[in-house]
Amino acid sequence: MGSEVEKKAVFDMEAAKVVVKELRESFAAGKTKSYEWRVSQLKAILKMMEENEPQIIAALREDLSKPELESSIYEIAMLKNTCKLALKEMKHWILPEKAKTSLTTFPSSAEIVSEPFGVVLVISAWNYPFLLSLDPVVGAIAAGNAIVLKPSEIAPASSSLLAKLVETYMDSSCIKVVEGGVTETSALLEQKWDKIFYTGNGRIARIVMAAAAKHLTPVVLELGGKSPVIVDSDINLQVATRRIIAGKWGCNNGQACISPDYVVTTKDYAPKLVDSFKRELERFYGKNPLESKDLSRIVNSNHFARLSKLLDEDKVSGKIVHGGERDKTNLKISPTILLDVPQDSLIMNEEIFGPLLPFILVDKVEDSFDVVNSTGTKPLAAYLFTNDKKLKEKFVATVSAGGLVVNDTTVHLAVHTLPFGGVGESGMGAYHGKFSFDAFSHKKAVLYRGFAADAFVRYPPYTNGKLRL
Ligand code: NAD
Repeated sequence: MGSEVEKKAVFDMEAAKVVVKELRESFAAGKTKSYEWRVSQLKAILKMMEENEPQIIAALREDLSKPELESSIYEIAMLKNTCKLALKEMKHWILPEKAKTSLTTFPSSAEIVSEPFGVVLVISAWNYPFLLSLDPVVGAIAAGNAIVLKPSEIAPASSSLLAKLVETYMDSSCIKVVEGGVTETSALLEQKWDKIFYTGNGRIARIVMAAAAKHLTPVVLELGGKSPVIVDSDINLQVATRRIIAGKWGCNNGQACISPDYVVTTKDYAPKLVDSFKRELERFYGKNPLESKDLSRIVNSNHFARLSKLLDEDKVSGKIVHGGERDKTNLKISPTILLDVPQDSLIMNEEIFGPLLPFILVDKVEDSFDVVNSTGTKPLAAYLFTNDKKLKEKFVATVSAGGLVVNDTTVHLAVHTLPFGGVGESGMGAYHGKFSFDAFSHKKAVLYRGFAADAFVRYPPYTNGKLRL
């Protein structure tokens, strides 16, 4: 970071002003707009990830005891793929898009020009600290913006490594990392930005949006919610169970925004499904999952206490049919299934974001859609396991969510041709692939005319003859 800011012990309003001023100057000089600059910065991210894989894995282990394979795939490989795609496609993305014109403006031609917003703020969350920080940054660079990235203070080893690496590898006159929590983020949010991209929970999203409103700054809000999994009986039970486990416990031990939050299935099918979960969970994580190296820990004692409260509520006492073990010292909770949980329980009324999986039971699988829709909020993702064509159609037609997946969980995240984002309480705006470029570009409408065919009808005097034309 710039030397003026470095000297300050606290990152306050003045320091935030200095950062934004420097970035505004760089942007105004046109530095970030050049194609070559964009390519150089995307290549720098790629190099940074390639040369520092062991350090990144170590930081994620320190912050979350994240298993190495999960770090390699979800934080490093996915980010590298994002960079490679942008490097390959950016030359097409930046081209003006031809638009059709109408008779009213004949003769004319038109195009949509993508221009960078300017100086943007990216605020990210702790659960995938590298991916959630740098994935939006890739889009912001490809679109030609100057950027401040504010990683989450809840994953301090990752935040500090990110700050160090970005400063070392990237152009610090245009891209800066500001570390910190509420004080630092509040100082940043007081500034005028051209776009704010926030990943995190809905409570803070409201603070971000209120701050943005003061300057009429547009926002993308990547939030969470209760992502349901509806399970029909007409399925390949083992494959379905494994895919739900992979999306729940195989994604940071349930601490992922699109992890399955609860299961809805029929009373008749539930015993078979629970048995299958028990079998596969033991196969994957052994008889004592608290000892498993393949499960992340809970990020901190606050989240451990929050999850414990959900398990200890009277309304769910006696509902645990698998797991439930806790290790407060090492912040571990084993994969836990709760059967036939009342819908008015605490666990069904907030995003779980951890290794607990409640089952809601219905008489007929068709009733599941009413359960999902009765929550009154739209989830970030919704999943359905079935072979029934009609049920799939009903799912797509009646369930509103950021994204839907049939017969798998979470993998839509890796499909760059699909927009990734929420709706309603799960967020607004989307990114990934070209959608990331679009999220950080203003689509400027440009109409070109010559001097021919100057229609006299638009000019006064407005005679009756002109009215009849
Ligand atoms: P968090 O605690 O890391 O907070 C997110 C960011 O908000 C951090 O950078 C933090 O410093 C900042 N922040 C905290 N308090 C603030 C305040 N008072 N003012 C301004 N900024 C403040 O992360 P979290 O919110 O616990 O993340 C979990 C939530 O995020 C879940 O709801 C999850 O579903 C959601 N999430 C969504 C996505 C997605 O892509 N849609 C990805 C990950 C997480």
